[in-house]
Amino acid sequence: MAWMLRLVKTGAEGEGACTDVMEIDRPDDLGDIANLGLTLAEAKRLLAGVQQKIVAVQAKEHAVRRPDCPHCGGVCRVKDYRDHAVATLFGQVTVRLPRFRCAACGGIEAGVGWPPYCRSTPELDRLQAHLCAVMTYRTAADLLEQLFPVEAGKHHETLRRHTLKVGEALGDYVATRPETAASTIAVTLDSTFIRSCADGERHLEVRVGNVETQSGGRQVFGAVAKAGTDIRVLICRNLDAVGRTEGTALTAFTDGCSGLRRILADAGVIARPMLDWFHIAMRLQHLKQIASALPADDPPRAEAKAVIVEEAERLHWRIWNGKARDAQTSIDRIRAVVHHFQGEPEGQTSNAPSRKLWTALHALDGYLASQSAWLVDYAERHRAGLRVGTAITEGTANFLVNRRMNKSQQMRWSRRGADLLLQVRCAIYNGTLGSGFGQKFQPANDPYPTMATAA
Ligand SMILES: [Zn+2]
Repeated sequence: MAWMLRLVKTGAEGEGACTDVMEIDRPDDLGDIANLGLTLAEAKRLLAGVQQKIVAVQAKEHAVRRPDCPHCGGVCRVKDYRDHAVATLFGQVTVRLPRFRCAACGGIEAGVGWPPYCRSTPELDRLQAHLCAVMTYRTAADLLEQLFPVEAGKHHETLRRHTLKVGEALGDYVATRPETAASTIAVTLDSTFIRSCADGERHLEVRVGNVETQSGGRQVFGAVAKAGTDIRVLICRNLDAVGRTEGTALTAFTDGCSGLRRILADAGVIARPMLDWFHIAMRLQHLKQIASALPADDPPRAEAKAVIVEEAERLHWRIWNGKARDAQTSIDRIRAVVHHFQGEPEGQTSNAPSRKLWTALHALDGYLASQSAWLVDYAERHRAGLRVGTAITEGTANFLVNRRMNKSQQMRWSRRGADLLLQVRCAIYNGTLGSGFGQKFQPANDPYPTMATAA
């Protein structure tokens, strides 16, 4: 069976010229499921064919226009024609467009408002950037080539260059303030690390955060340290985007790093930052996992394990209830029975349960001691319907950075490349990239707030 795909121009004056795009030849025998409908290759050829025909007609129609001179308002005449090669999502097109000269003042007018050196459509740019922000440059290039008749940007290096350009342009983004002011906003600021590709530099520090309103408005932001993007500007911009006014009460959470507290203060968030419950919970979770994996192969060990499991729970309860000062009691009780697990067969390795427990306990002890001034009564806040930390359950750093930029140990980043890619990732989640799909957060306040979420 064969079909002819034909485009017919329609308009106010009725049907116009028609033009054949392509012939489609498919078997009529459906004995093989693979014969059903169009193949991907045909669909790509079809899209590319339709694109070529439509662009050709558009260019022809555009060429008969005579713009007014922007300088003197005089009549323009065609000066010459120029070919523009433009990459689109449906293939490369060449558009032949006239340039005009004003008969009165001699001024030259392009006749189009395209950006200088325009080589691709904004839609293609956005889609490329979007894909690259959620998967590796190589995978994104493969995916685009598989699904679309794209000809430009097949190479992952090209895609990378385009994406970073989109990220750069986002630096000038101006937040639109929502109509409703936010009465309270919680600001979270964390840091994480990614591997550096530069010599003599192992890691790059990445600062990430989010702003959240009581009614569910949320925006995320992030910047690689010393890469040119000012995180303080991002914090201010995001506060504006969720409706900060002079009367807004700000609450701040950090992962406990003193540098982050300074950044918050510099950005005008003067509320005393609390230690984000998320980070404490992660450490407690780690301790509990180790405790539950301890062997209980003889009565003394079984008894010691029971003590450790119980004290780990108690430790959790104490910190949650603002009694971190008593945490030392639990830690001491655990330390007192750890010796039961020493001398195991693998006792010399760092994988031994007792070694792991000892290390986790030591780390938690140090953390609590250094952070004691920033701990609050989390239970009391929670009961009052107040936040105890970020509402992004897996943590902002994991969500924004690790998922894309830390996935494999082989991924190494340049300071600038990582920073600009992060700008694109944030824009996707904030709905400011304009690619329309995959958006996670609404910047404006939800007029119908759902239940306030804490913990
Ligand atoms: Zn003129």
